[in-house]
Amino acid sequence: MWSLKKMKRSYSFEIPVGMIKYYLFCPRIPYFVLVMGVKEKVTDCMIEGLKEHEKFCRSKEMANVYLKSEKLGICGYVDAIVKTSNGYKVVEFKSVEFNKRTLKSHLYQAVAYALLVEENFGRVISVVLKYRYRTLEFPLTVGLKRYVKHIINKIREICEIGLVPEYKESRRCRGCGFAWICRQA
Ligand code: SF4
Repeated sequence: MWSLKKMKRSYSFEIPVGMIKYYLFCPRIPYFVLVMGVKEKVTDCMIEGLKEHEKFCRSKEMANVYLKSEKLGICGYVDAIVKTSNGYKVVEFKSVEFNKRTLKSHLYQAVAYALLVEENFGRVISVVLKYRYRTLEFPLTVGLKRYVKHIINKIREICEIGLVPEYKESRRCRGCGFAWICRQA
């Protein structure tokens, strides 16, 4: 018999929020990382970016906060959370210059952090992307939240069912840190 009480979902594994960026770059990557345990090849540029990121987080009060979502089965470190009288703002620091091409993946990732903050602290009003010379702020809409939840479900499906998209060579493969394993898989 069905209970009217809300059933609490439990997940066999948590999806780190960083996986959203990977999924949007190529949907094959979450499988390599979460199921096969493959690590991305780290470049000098990535190390520099990490150092800048740490510097930024040290300078903020509510920064680098580790959060989990029971409802969505995701987890991650939120760069900064700013409390306002209307709700929270979630800030995502990017150690690179603004680039239109990567905006969407940065935005969706920041929205996933906002979902973590909403579940743990309360209403989020906006997400802020802080680039080197530019800061962008986006209201946290129902549409954005819905789309990011859809991405999270897709990643879970790929990993649980093993529904990995076919290898298809494209321009992005040239700069891909998983190319070495991708062609063997
Ligand atoms: S090499 Fe190409 S197909 Fe393979 S994971 Fe990277 S981007 Fe995707």
